[in-house]
Amino acid sequence: MKKYKYLILGAGPSGLAVAHRLLQSGLSTSDILVIEKNAETGGLCKSQIVDGAPLDTGGGHFLDVKYERVLEFLFRFMPKEEWNKFDRISKIRIHGQEIDHPLEANLWQLPKDTQVEYLESIAKAGCVSDEPIPDSFSDWIVWKLGNKIAAEYMLPYNKKIWSMDLDKLGVYWLHKLPNVSFREVLESCLYGKPQGQLPAHGTFLYPKNHGYGELWRLMGSALGDSLLLSTEVINIDLSTGLVNGQWQAETIINTIPWAHWENYCSLPENITTAISKLKNISIDVEYNSNTLTSDAHWIYEPDENKSYHRQLLRSNFATGARGHWTESNSSRTSGSKSETHFHNEYAYPVNTKDKPEAVAVILEWALENRIIGLGRWGKWEHMNSDIAVLEALQLADSLTSSEASI
Ligand SMILES: Cc1cc2nc3c(=O)[nH]c(=O)nc-3n(C[C@H](O)[C@H](O)[C@H](O)COP(=O)(O)OP(=O)(O)OC[C@H]3O[C@@H](n4cnc5c(N)ncnc54)[C@H](O)[C@@H]3O)c2cc1C
Repeated sequence: MKKYKYLILGAGPSGLAVAHRLLQSGLSTSDILVIEKNAETGGLCKSQIVDGAPLDTGGGHFLDVKYERVLEFLFRFMPKEEWNKFDRISKIRIHGQEIDHPLEANLWQLPKDTQVEYLESIAKAGCVSDEPIPDSFSDWIVWKLGNKIAAEYMLPYNKKIWSMDLDKLGVYWLHKLPNVSFREVLESCLYGKPQGQLPAHGTFLYPKNHGYGELWRLMGSALGDSLLLSTEVINIDLSTGLVNGQWQAETIINTIPWAHWENYCSLPENITTAISKLKNISIDVEYNSNTLTSDAHWIYEPDENKSYHRQLLRSNFATGARGHWTESNSSRTSGSKSETHFHNEYAYPVNTKDKPEAVAVILEWALENRIIGLGRWGKWEHMNSDIAVLEALQLADSLTSSEASI
């Protein structure tokens, strides 16, 4: 049995970033161990070469970092010069056309009579007329964007991606989206260009010569003996911090889904109940060698007759690539799968109404047992990889500064 200060479960972006930051803060390689069930690091951010070019097997992954310290940290592993920078072109396929995203800022690209119908519906939207914010997701969509964008794009698109009753989702995760202004939508239709505040992620980085997974592969290999690959966590002794009967931790940092914890150890009933409230959806990624004629990097597809909800036009962002890949909720994909098909069981945490309370209960119990939840599955939050890294850096800094002050 070996003893460690920190055992880190999972080597996706969160586990990799917290491990490196702990090492950078002065911990030795014998203080930490990262345990990863897969043969490669990167989690949802992994890539493979398919048909001669990279494909991101967890879906379309692009780096857009708001925080300079995150960018500096990531560039240590894959320098700035190794990334291409793109102005994002994302489109929505609607009314037989491809319209720039977001739809409400680009209605001017539609025929005039269709613009009038959309404008009329936005003028009547609850958020424009200061009606109270509804507490379920489907009502929120209509409140935010009006009946027509809801019926023709947002509701069918979200039904596809979540493939569940949208009324089970809360609205607490939507506060970052800017409010729709009728005046700005009207101006954009009159002037023939987007107006007002556009959503984040206007530019992104993608590796020049690799898929997105290369960054996380490099971070994994830089961990050396502090990383165990192809090693699944199957047993945790809560009283001693012993994992798989082999490695003992003073503190466990958990980035793997809580949903499996009842297989690893015996949990109090209230924690089993809280964990049962955490929902996730699975995403299938499928390669198609057909190169689409569009300048978009990706296209959202609300048509419910198509199984996929997004196409990734890799020929427009991966060097030397042809073809595209699709993302579908796994419950919408048919039985026969091609060789170039990738299943991601844990893809999106679902923001159900009762999730925040369940997560708070789990994280409080975990802390009492010297376990810290981190990342997409440790916090059950829909965060992008830059935020996963930011939170990992913050956690490592707080752990090492509290050690220094003891
Ligand atoms: C379709 C899609 C598109 C996305 N697009 C973007 C994007 O454009 N830009 C962006 O920045 N982010 C994007 N994201 C989000 C990004 O994937 C996540 O933020 C990131 O992967 C979170 O990292 P993580 O380490 O917390 O979790 P994960 O990446 O899920 O890593 C968890 C790790 O735990 C391991 N594990 C699980 N169970 C065990 C076990 N029992 N024992 C040992 N190891 C285990 C897994 O194998 C995995 O390696 C996207 C996500 C999806 C699903």
